[in-house]
Amino acid sequence: MRYVSTRGQAPVRDFAGVLLAGLAEDGGLYVPETWPTLRPDDWRALRGLPYQELATRILAPFAAGSIDEATLRRLCGRAYAGFNHPAIVPLVQLDGELFVQELFHGPTLAFKDMAMQLLGGLFDHVLEREDARVTIVGATSGDTGSAAIEACRDRERIQVVILHPEGRTSEVQRRQMTTVLSRNIDNLAIDGSFDDCQDLVKAMFADAPFRAEMQLSAVNSINWARVAAQIPYYVAAALALGAPDREVCFAVPTGNFGNVLAAWAARRMGLPVRHLAIGSNHNDILARFLAGNDMSMRDVTPSLSPSMDIQVSSNFERLLFELLDRDAAACARIMTGFRATGRMQVPDAAWRKASALFHGLSLDDDATSGAIRRLHDEAGYLADPHSIIGIEAGRRHAVAGIPTIAMGTAHPAKFPEAIRRATGLVPALPPHLADLYEREERYRRVPNRLDAVEAAVRAALFKNAA
Ligand SMILES: *Cc1c(COP(=O)(O)O)cnc(C)c1O
Repeated sequence: MRYVSTRGQAPVRDFAGVLLAGLAEDGGLYVPETWPTLRPDDWRALRGLPYQELATRILAPFAAGSIDEATLRRLCGRAYAGFNHPAIVPLVQLDGELFVQELFHGPTLAFKDMAMQLLGGLFDHVLEREDARVTIVGATSGDTGSAAIEACRDRERIQVVILHPEGRTSEVQRRQMTTVLSRNIDNLAIDGSFDDCQDLVKAMFADAPFRAEMQLSAVNSINWARVAAQIPYYVAAALALGAPDREVCFAVPTGNFGNVLAAWAARRMGLPVRHLAIGSNHNDILARFLAGNDMSMRDVTPSLSPSMDIQVSSNFERLLFELLDRDAAACARIMTGFRATGRMQVPDAAWRKASALFHGLSLDDDATSGAIRRLHDEAGYLADPHSIIGIEAGRRHAVAGIPTIAMGTAHPAKFPEAIRRATGLVPALPPHLADLYEREERYRRVPNRLDAVEAAVRAALFKNAA
């Protein structure tokens, strides 16, 4: 399988190549040159497999020619061995046709572990094979950072520098990052928003000499391997509820558009998915786009669901590329215009295709709290402030006779203050994190400036080389 950039001006690469590259040199995102597709009988043959084996089989065509299936099987086995639930991604029924798939039984209690635990092993394998090293830089609104740190800690060939917006993550999220004191981990607290952090990471990648000197690599959801590693759980849920002989709908709380893009990919591969409901908080650029082709940036303001406090959904570019029938020049033009003006000019035909398949819903903080409380009263289920937004989006757009599967993206104990305000309950952290509030923290405060951040990345690398 070969990968091409959505902007058409970067080298074609294989799976290991896009894993290491992250963002393409032309500013675009890597996508498969062609989509693997499965027929109904192929889907049926996957029913009932253990999750690790299902993931291996789904990922094999994406890694073909680069990483063999036996290696993938070994890496998938290890990636999910540390999960706290034997089903890895259990389904919970909330009412007749509404289900939650819990994706938060990994080490950092959010769905980011699903991809990141596998990426850690993939990086190790490829770097060992090529006798190479990388510096992973990433921006996080809370969950990506801790998942990356947990997946890469103490790996000798990888240096990790994570930027988070100071004061905008939950305390649990921050501590999950800053209490990992391994030599190869550095945390930078940036005086700015998540989008500022993301822009700084993009700017470091655009600085070609710096990128080469530091051997930069990314594990943000712009990395194709992360999107790929999120496809198997959509397959698992759909098969469990009757696919390919019955359609399903998915509902996904969305920020950077990475998780829901994996759902789209599963559909593109032939899984019978009727529609995709996507939920946002009051930072609602995607909901506005779907409702009226208004993709215009507004200021990001903090919400109860910090991992969705985003206005620029990076992975949307991959969908846009497909909506434009893979016209890379048009995609590049639209994305450059978006950067320059803050408004994306999506052609009407492309918008119609998107709005026929994706349905949006945005909830403000009061509605989010109310929904958490109601769900707990009705079904005895505690959903975190991200998951509940997906659940509500799924309810709003449900189709009679078709099961809706909402993605449970974080454990409620990751956001105890929001849960307490909504329900009066304080969810307990699982045993492996019970002493999180007592652990020593380490991080550096850095101003929202490229030169300052590059200096900090350089210092991190030299500290460890010394
Ligand atoms: C990252 C995250 C999201 C948003 O996922 P995207 O792939 O960025 O759309 C939603 N919920 C939680 C808990 C997250 O950590």
